[in-house]
Amino acid sequence: MKIENLLKYQEVDGQLKKLVSEINQSEESVKGKKLGAFLKESEEKIKKMDKRADELNALIQKLKENYQQSTQKFAELEEGVEQAIDKDELNYVAKKLAELTKTIASIEKDLANAIKEMGDIAKRYDDLRAKVPSAKAQYKECRAKFDQRKKEQEPQISALKQQLAELEKDIDSKMMEAYQKVRGQNIYPVVVPLVGNNCGGCRMDLSIGAVGKIESQGYAVCENCHRFIYKK
Ligand SMILES: [Zn+2]
Repeated sequence: MKIENLLKYQEVDGQLKKLVSEINQSEESVKGKKLGAFLKESEEKIKKMDKRADELNALIQKLKENYQQSTQKFAELEEGVEQAIDKDELNYVAKKLAELTKTIASIEKDLANAIKEMGDIAKRYDDLRAKVPSAKAQYKECRAKFDQRKKEQEPQISALKQQLAELEKDIDSKMMEAYQKVRGQNIYPVVVPLVGNNCGGCRMDLSIGAVGKIESQGYAVCENCHRFIYKK
């Protein structure tokens, strides 16, 4: 279980990491990701707007029906005023008319609000829809460039992966597993030197036991960050 083998592995792993990160941080990758997110977001927004527009259409329809019914009833009640036989009946009809006036005003207000919201949605919808085609074209362009770059780097990536597979043969499987577990948390380097009595990664003080292990087996595992620590 020599730490030297793991250090060699880590060096190649670092080259691979650098290469992959260069590809992922390239302009086409960063821009492409942004455009992809924009397109996805737009699709969701458009879907939501469609749904709200349907709801508003139904609401407007219903409000218009209510309005018609209420105005019709109002006309009927007005006739009732003329035909009222006594003061009580007149008062009753007048009260009903006042109530209905309020109801009609409220329907008119709701209707105006719904129509306004519908107009706002239509505008936002058009704005968004206008932006989508150009974003799609740009996304496609970025994607093609990204794929091209990836393809160009592929032989180098394969060679490094091949090298890693070869180096892995000389490393204890448990050690490899422990390395990959830390590496999987996007931590690099995983094998770090001892700095004073501290872990070279997280700077935590090592126990006497851990320092002893470094002396006896060449390395120890940090109890805090689980990196491998060796003495340079
Ligand atoms: Zn540590």
